[in-house]
Amino acid sequence: MRQKGRHRRHRHDVDHSPASGAPTVYESSPRQEEASSAAMTQAEEQAVWRILSTGHTALNAIRLGEHAMHTTSHHIARSPYYDQYACRAGCSWCCYIPVAVTPPEALVMAQYLRKRMSAEELCAVRERLAEQAERIAHLSSAAHAEARMPCALLREGQCMVYEARPIRCRRWNSVDSAACEVGFHDAHAAVVPIDAYGFAAGGSIQAGLHAGARQVGLDGTWYELHSVVWRALEVADAADHWVRGAAVFGDCTPIERRGSVDSPESL
Ligand code: SF4
Repeated sequence: MRQKGRHRRHRHDVDHSPASGAPTVYESSPRQEEASSAAMTQAEEQAVWRILSTGHTALNAIRLGEHAMHTTSHHIARSPYYDQYACRAGCSWCCYIPVAVTPPEALVMAQYLRKRMSAEELCAVRERLAEQAERIAHLSSAAHAEARMPCALLREGQCMVYEARPIRCRRWNSVDSAACEVGFHDAHAAVVPIDAYGFAAGGSIQAGLHAGARQVGLDGTWYELHSVVWRALEVADAADHWVRGAAVFGDCTPIERRGSVDSPESL
């Protein structure tokens, strides 16, 4: 059973997230530097080289995304605040914020959906993704967050790709779901306490995936979730194209980046 208040909180860096508009406070810990370290980023870059050293295959393209996702979850489980997380299946107060997804993550998400859905269900999901991507393409990240559009991968309050959810969703963990709910209804009425360790670890690892892909000549761009997952589903052999260097995601919507990899410009 998770216990509240087991660790003393070290709050710092109150920030009005340009993504959600909500005042957000990051629960810091003595191991903060470890999570924000270049070593974590470099380790993921090296993983990209290692995995692709056995071939630029579709299977390895998927492995890149899986490795980064699993490594993120592994580090998050070691957070000093892990046992205080309020995040639960069915809780989706944060699933309206812009989410930055790299191509390997989108490929994992698409594979997950293809394996579990009927042709009809998949067609419906693709339509929802396409419609949402079209709406979002004309919005800034701040306007996107302000619009309070639920993620197209939410079904009855549950994430359809939970086991394959992207790094940005894995790293955003609140220790107070009541604050998340208040923040959802009124972005300026709540301070949402986010675990800074998990947030930074996920940022460092995704930065390594992004940089590693670019170092080997592949597209490592942070794209808006709906556009990049839609494309990964639309193109049957997207993984094969991407890992061979084709610009298969070239007309997806890049997500705005502000400041460092830990800047809360999106989930
Ligand atoms: S992918 Fe899942 S966890 Fe992430 S925003 Fe969408 S529904 Fe929420």
